[in-house]
Amino acid sequence: MGTPLKVLFVEDSELDTELTTAELTRGGFSPQVLQVETRDEMHSALNDRQWDLIICDYRMPRFSAEAALDTLKASGQDLPFIITSGAVTAEDVVSLLKQGAHDFMDKSALARLVPAIERELRDANVRKQRRQAEARVRILSQAVEQSPVSVVITDPKGKIEYVNPCFENTTGYSASESLGRPFDFTFLDDEREQLIQQLCNTVSQGEQWRQEICSVRANGELIWENVKVSPLTDIDNNLTHYIAVKEDITVRRNYEQQLLRQARYDDLTDLPNRTLMIENIIRALQEAEQHQRQVAILGIDLDHFKNVNDSVGHSIGDFLLKEAANRLSRCIRPGDTLARMGGDEYVVLLPDLENKDTAAHIAQQIVAQFTEPFFIIGRNYYVTCSVGIALYPNDASNPHLLLRNADLAMYQCKDNGRNQFQFFTQDINDQLVERLELENQLRSVVNRNELVLHYQPIYNLKNNTIIGFEALVRWHQPNGTLRMPNNFIPAAERIGVIEEIDGWVLQNACREVGKLLREHQPPLRLAINISSRQLELPDFAQFVREQLHINRIPADQLELEITERVLINDDKATNDNINALAELGVRFSVDDFGTGYSSLGYLQRYPLSTLKIDRSFVSGINQNDNALQLVKTILVLAQGLGMSTVAEGIEDEQQRALLLQVGCEQAQGFLLSIPEAIDEIKQKIDQQL
Ligand code: C2E
Ligand code: MG
Ligand code: MG
Repeated sequence: MGTPLKVLFVEDSELDTELTTAELTRGGFSPQVLQVETRDEMHSALNDRQWDLIICDYRMPRFSAEAALDTLKASGQDLPFIITSGAVTAEDVVSLLKQGAHDFMDKSALARLVPAIERELRDANVRKQRRQAEARVRILSQAVEQSPVSVVITDPKGKIEYVNPCFENTTGYSASESLGRPFDFTFLDDEREQLIQQLCNTVSQGEQWRQEICSVRANGELIWENVKVSPLTDIDNNLTHYIAVKEDITVRRNYEQQLLRQARYDDLTDLPNRTLMIENIIRALQEAEQHQRQVAILGIDLDHFKNVNDSVGHSIGDFLLKEAANRLSRCIRPGDTLARMGGDEYVVLLPDLENKDTAAHIAQQIVAQFTEPFFIIGRNYYVTCSVGIALYPNDASNPHLLLRNADLAMYQCKDNGRNQFQFFTQDINDQLVERLELENQLRSVVNRNELVLHYQPIYNLKNNTIIGFEALVRWHQPNGTLRMPNNFIPAAERIGVIEEIDGWVLQNACREVGKLLREHQPPLRLAINISSRQLELPDFAQFVREQLHINRIPADQLELEITERVLINDDKATNDNINALAELGVRFSVDDFGTGYSSLGYLQRYPLSTLKIDRSFVSGINQNDNALQLVKTILVLAQGLGMSTVAEGIEDEQQRALLLQVGCEQAQGFLLSIPEAIDEIKQKIDQQL
């Protein structure tokens, strides 16, 4: 089988077609042929099928070679066109070659036909490839021109040879302004040199280089671009150009930066937030470790800020927090960090600290910044601050412990009266650990049934008989000792379990002594200490009533001891409870009288029956005149108001004698009896009979 060859004969003589076809077959082709004689036939043949070649008769009765050439041209196809004929003039040959015929051949000498066809097919193939290549280049260059990303082509030295319209739009530099300039002429200066160095290293190894780069537009605006640069080589692998494709990612970068900022800065004050502060501390500690330096963390908390926020509202609170941030930032030096950690808590990081004194000095300045009131919408607000300082490497070596220790020192300031600074010490730490442990155990103290009650008798000094007793709570410790109330009641008040404890005390005291109170003659009274929190509970009066009822205790045998602070507070629920209980017949006494407040107005406002003269006065009466005088005054006061008095904490005979002498008839104290379990107390009472 020969090479397939589709030949369109434009010919009027069938015989000639056959002869030529035979010649082709002989020449090694396997021709498929069609003969046409008119323009229309040729036209449809070209349309219907693909041809490799046209062999056209020069002279035909109804058609001509010129007309056939025209028809081919009109079809837009580029096929080898060979003319065969009898005698032709040289002029005709030239004219037909000019019109696009590829070769001319005498019908009587077809020996040249096959080589001519082979040559024409080769040429036609070359022409076809060139056409295709041109079309590709055209499409590619259009693609580059219309590309939505910037394209830059440079010479091997990086000088710009081409930029596309997107580059012009994005950078604001026209092609003519850009050509001949270095590739990086739009890059932001900061990183330029370093980037180009990296770029050269990468592309010199024939690899693509990619980077997100900040560029400056012609109008000065900054843009972010994702840049890819690749080397272009010729067939022999010689570098001829670089091509850079740059995608504008400004929107994305800005968004990212905004997110990044939000994640690391506080919205209200614009200060770094906790996250950024911790990053900075980590870095500061690493550097300090390398250079054997110290770092200080200052934990700052505004004193009583909550009061401002709760009483005048959040917008003023926010204003104050911002103003506080301003004042704090005045105290820090370049390189230090000030952050708002949340709420009214700020932290200052002093990296690279020369010595402890510098930290103290800055803390002092910070405290001093808050001596002036904050003037907000026509009013002055006095808000001080407490500052705790922790040092690296002394107090801790990791950020979280340092922050915690600074906080602990800050809490210590609060305990010591606020408006001051304090360095962290191991003592502070130990206290806190102990305090946390205590608080933790206190939470379940009632459930674990670890409370016990002791009772301290109250005596009539005149005849030395017991007239009642005060219930005092103790906490049984695992080691067998008893923890005294002064050691846990304040903590219980702080963490809010005091109500539960006092409820337990009331319930159990009533249960333990109910029978004694019912049966003993003359009637004894039970005194119970009540915390202010307890009195604020709306159903407290009801609770007391129930306990009295359950244990069948007459109301006037119960005396609730409250402190002056409770009465000064003037809380609505407290007042309601006191009045309801007083109406029931329950008595109230003022515990530790004389130690609290100087205002005595409340004595008249409340239904009080007893003043308990604080031990500090009693223990002083045999030592200084003032104390004796004070006790006398209290007695006169009580008498005037129709109240009785109980002297607390009599420890020796002399005190007893003096008290009797000035007319104080009731007392308790170690001299008379220490607080003891109910059985011992019962025995004592029985012995009196
Ligand atoms: P308080 O009500 O003033 O109770 C008197 C305290 O003085 C008792 O201490 C008692 O043991 C002590 N005391 C009595 N006589 C003398 C004395 O001659 N010399 C000395 N040095 N001390 C004497 P205690 O039991 O440690 O109670 C301390 C405080 O704890 C009480 O002071 C009271 O305020 C509070 N407390 C005790 N039990 C309760 C309770 O059940 N609930 C509440 N809320 N507070 C309680
Ligand atoms: Mg008491
Ligand atoms: Mg007392």
